[in-house]
Amino acid sequence: MRPEPLYPLFVPLTNLPGIGPRFAKLFEQLAGPKVLDLCWHLPINVIDRRYSPKIGEAEPERVATLLVRVCEHRPGASRRQPYKVVCEDETGRIELIFFHARPDYLERILPTGKEVAVSGRFEVFNRQAQMTHPDHVVKPDEVGQLLRLEPIYPLTTGLPQKTVAKAIKAALTHVPDLPEWLDRALVQKRNWPSWSDALLQSHNPQNVSDVEPGSPARQRLAYDELLANQLALLIVRKAARRIPGKSLKGDGSLRSSVKAALPFSLTRSQAQAVLEIERDLARPSRMLRLLQGDVGSGKTVVALLAMLIAVEAGQQAALMAPTEILARQHYETLRPLTEPLGIEVVLLTGKDKAKDRRQTIEAIGSGRAAIAVGTHALFQEGVEFSNLAVAVIDEQHRFGVHQRLMLAGKGKDVDVLVMTATPIPRTLMLTAYGDMDTSRLLEKPAGRKPVDTRTLDIERLSEVVDGLRRAIEGGAQAYWVCPLVEESETSDLAAADQRYETLRKVFSDRVGLVHGRMKSAEKDSIMAEFKAGSLSVLVATTVIEVGVDVPNATVMVIEHAERFGLSQLHQMRGRVGRGGDQSVCLLLYQKPLGDTAHRRLEIMRETEDGFVISEEDLRLRGAGEVLGTRQSGMPSFRVADLTQHDDLLAIARDDAKLIIEDDNWMDSKRGRALRTLLYLFERDAAVRYIRSG
Ligand code: ADP
Ligand code: MG
Repeated sequence: MRPEPLYPLFVPLTNLPGIGPRFAKLFEQLAGPKVLDLCWHLPINVIDRRYSPKIGEAEPERVATLLVRVCEHRPGASRRQPYKVVCEDETGRIELIFFHARPDYLERILPTGKEVAVSGRFEVFNRQAQMTHPDHVVKPDEVGQLLRLEPIYPLTTGLPQKTVAKAIKAALTHVPDLPEWLDRALVQKRNWPSWSDALLQSHNPQNVSDVEPGSPARQRLAYDELLANQLALLIVRKAARRIPGKSLKGDGSLRSSVKAALPFSLTRSQAQAVLEIERDLARPSRMLRLLQGDVGSGKTVVALLAMLIAVEAGQQAALMAPTEILARQHYETLRPLTEPLGIEVVLLTGKDKAKDRRQTIEAIGSGRAAIAVGTHALFQEGVEFSNLAVAVIDEQHRFGVHQRLMLAGKGKDVDVLVMTATPIPRTLMLTAYGDMDTSRLLEKPAGRKPVDTRTLDIERLSEVVDGLRRAIEGGAQAYWVCPLVEESETSDLAAADQRYETLRKVFSDRVGLVHGRMKSAEKDSIMAEFKAGSLSVLVATTVIEVGVDVPNATVMVIEHAERFGLSQLHQMRGRVGRGGDQSVCLLLYQKPLGDTAHRRLEIMRETEDGFVISEEDLRLRGAGEVLGTRQSGMPSFRVADLTQHDDLLAIARDDAKLIIEDDNWMDSKRGRALRTLLYLFERDAAVRYIRSG
């Protein structure tokens, strides 16, 4: 189904000359497995090699391309001494210097008595002209290819610049001319080249500014990518809308029982969200709604009420969480609320014993279980729902569109509610979900006090421990999150272990430790002790380990806070401040603090508003890193940079809307070109939806 002109781009890059199996692996790491992936691997800088003086006139410390004659090879006296090759022109002599040289290789590329062109940094040492490890050595008739702005590519260990450049050059010969998919007026107004020219120009910069995100060629490619993204989202959404869903209403009986049993009343935005969901479900088309709300804003109750609508109507609902711990926690929150109603709720995770698992699957399959809570195990093969109507996905940025669709595929026309804990910046929101319907939980449940956030130098650790002791004597509970060490899990663990030991000296058996390597039963039992109050301090290694809800916990200590991202810090802080008591968050940092880290801690002190924090996060980090897009299923872009191209995103969104509004757009000439665009950016999944439904 892929348009034929694209075939050459989708072949494995081993088809390119000079890429054998060894390099192929590295190239795959660097860019991807296909020729197209190499084409998207754009330069990040340029080196100007056009400066071509005589030896006697060259400026030191400047990159120069010299035409010289090789006079003499002078191998080093030992392996440790450099190998020198003396060259000259009519104005003077220069020594080319090589360390760890292979003499036979140097004799081949620098034959004595012959002319060569060399390019590299020209230096003068003890009045002697030198060039250490020239970047290029070529025959004189090839000097023309050198005298230009050389694109500099991002590399990976084991792949030299020259090898990458050569492979990309070969890959670019596969670039076809494609029919224009952009609106002609836009292209003219912006002075953009065609797609293929934009790609070629991006790889052959004529100015330093050509490798910057604002160059016309880069803008064009970024726009193409954003348009493909927006178009794909709209196509999927339109198809989903076209599927005649069922209208789910329910008689409200279960919902009112639950609301009456809750020890609190819903906040205004919770009630509003429930209302919006009820409306969506009553409509005879599928729901696809995002419930956005800060940690602790009370999404779970909203999810439960949504699911009860299905149950009232005699159907099933599912709640999927990203980790076993969170799934279990949801299960434990829901059970006491649903049990009195005579509703069976089951839990399915990847770690269930075979016998339990069989029973759970049977309960789901027979329809006896009205609500199934679980991890991704819920959408694995072998799990068949009797009549799934509503799926809630507690996303926490760990699932992608793909999983979302798979769970939705478990029922005939499942209504989907996606919950996200960290507020997503608007730009990211648009690229991940398009204009998906959104409900936002803006205010915190009543009675919550703001968290008192302080930043402290780790040198003041003993003061922190003293303060903690006083708080604990007063009955408080505390989380202590340990340094996130990036190099390895082992050192993470060692640091947490060490802190656990020091805290034990003070608090003896009131301290517990949980970490990612523990068996889940062990972890759960320690967490349960903390929840029950028999532990006062919980030392933990990762963010998710503290995903539990313990309203009595009022102290959050984060060690090496400077190593965490803003949204992580915000998530962790959200673990306290859940009960009615004043909570404290202590951010311990180690000096020296970089500018960004400093700013992050400052923002944490200034605000608790998750939406503000997410925007700042985007600004400080750049879109690629926010939320760790790669692992999360958030779209990652090849060319577009959301911190640089967000103006283009808005245009792409409107453009995509206009295109989609015409039901027969695909049949037009531009429509066929746009289909090529979708394939080019590997949004094929969307193409399949175009005709369906
Ligand atoms: P989220 O999943 O959004 O992080 P939860 O749903 O876990 O938040 O809710 C956090 C806590 O707030 C829970 O203990 C819950 O019982 C409580 N809660 C939820 N809604 C309200 C409300 N309207 N008033 C008071 N407490 C609430
Ligand atoms: Mg939650």
